[in-house]
Amino acid sequence: MENLIIIGSGPAGWTAGIYAGRAQLLPLLITGSAPGGQMALTSEIENYPGFPKGTSGQELNQLMQQQAERFDTRVQIDEVTAVELSTHPFKVTTYGDEYEAQALVIATGTSPRKLGVPGEAEFAGRGVSYCATCDGFFYQDRQVVVVGGGDSALEEALFLTKFASQVYVVHHRNRLRAEKVFQERAFRNEKIEFVWDSVVTEILGDGKVTGVRLQNVKTEEESTLETDGVFVYVGAIPNTGFLEGQLELDDRGYVVTDRQGHTSVPGVFAAGDVQERVLKQVATAVGSGAMAAMEAEKFIAELEDRAYPERTG
Ligand code: NAP
Repeated sequence: MENLIIIGSGPAGWTAGIYAGRAQLLPLLITGSAPGGQMALTSEIENYPGFPKGTSGQELNQLMQQQAERFDTRVQIDEVTAVELSTHPFKVTTYGDEYEAQALVIATGTSPRKLGVPGEAEFAGRGVSYCATCDGFFYQDRQVVVVGGGDSALEEALFLTKFASQVYVVHHRNRLRAEKVFQERAFRNEKIEFVWDSVVTEILGDGKVTGVRLQNVKTEEESTLETDGVFVYVGAIPNTGFLEGQLELDDRGYVVTDRQGHTSVPGVFAAGDVQERVLKQVATAVGSGAMAAMEAEKFIAELEDRAYPERTG
């Protein structure tokens, strides 16, 4: 029987591990299939306090893991496939094992949203990518397309200019959602060209990506743009498929929590992007991970007080 299982290994999960470890709960953290989550896929993080020169998502992830392990968080590389929350202790099933736990912190984050156009699935890994940090290097002196107008699209478009000869940012509006600091850098960068009011309707290729078909949403005019790679950054969807029917999710699939991370099931807490609709940042994930771990500690202490009232008098 585990005291606390933390599901997910992004900044919220690691922080929950640090706090629960220091509370001597000996937490078990199950990483998921992509350790480090979206943070580890981010080329550069320059708004997380304590790193005035910025740091890479990979490095920050490693540091957070080391800190969680220092306080005896046990790390299991595996993926949770199902949970049973209608009975207590809770049951957690992974590909490799089954566990029981007094409390859970769900910190499974989000995954990149797909464009959902012809060619996207066919050319995934052969020119279609959701991770510039992982794949950007392969596009030395090539032309690439980035789709989206948020922080991820512009941050990763800027990163891609280190390799590519030309980066086209295709956005379906003529205003960007991204932070001003990214906008200014992108507008100044000679390698970046914006294709406004346009959507990708098809990814073209022959074994690998050769271009995209575009449509201007105002004029409905169609065109083709030659490219070797398509980097898709059109938002995030919460990783909550395994929670359906087990606790309350909102209309977009995010876990519903209060400000302390309590979910609709007592003893189950959520932290980080999986419950954050407004400001998805490493800084906010870290705060909610700490909060969820502390609430989990309180929940476990209350269970013990009920089981052994003589200990507390
Ligand atoms: P996002 O903020 O949701 O932006 C997604 C972008 O894709 C938006 O510009 C959106 O258009 C566009 N879009 C959505 N669906 C589309 C479709 N079907 N076709 C074409 N375009 C589409 O997502 P994100 O940039 O991945 O960022 C996710 C979260 O992480 C955000 O909260 C972001 O602030 C945060 N983040 C922060 C940093 C940082 O601070 N350094 C870095 C990366 C990410 P509209 O603008 O019209 O909605």
